[in-house]
Amino acid sequence: MTAAVTRNPIPAIVIDRIACTGHGVCAAVLPDQVSLDEWGYPVVGGGRPDPELLTAAVRLCPARALLAGRTAP
Ligand code: SF4
Repeated sequence: MTAAVTRNPIPAIVIDRIACTGHGVCAAVLPDQVSLDEWGYPVVGGGRPDPELLTAAVRLCPARALLAGRTAP
């Protein structure tokens, strides 16, 4: 039996909620996918990000709390 494998080449935004310190760089770099809550912590929504912008946001996150990951289909 052969299992069908679905792969989405565009990574998802993953935030380490323990490491995140609410700097908001992610929301500035990815405004269509990340907004900030009333305390300045990120809320992810709005679909998959541009891969290059996500890479930039990951590199710029001062707490190293932003990751490019994959979610189950
Ligand atoms: S840039 Fe990093 S530390 Fe700042 S809010 Fe986003 S995930 Fe959190």
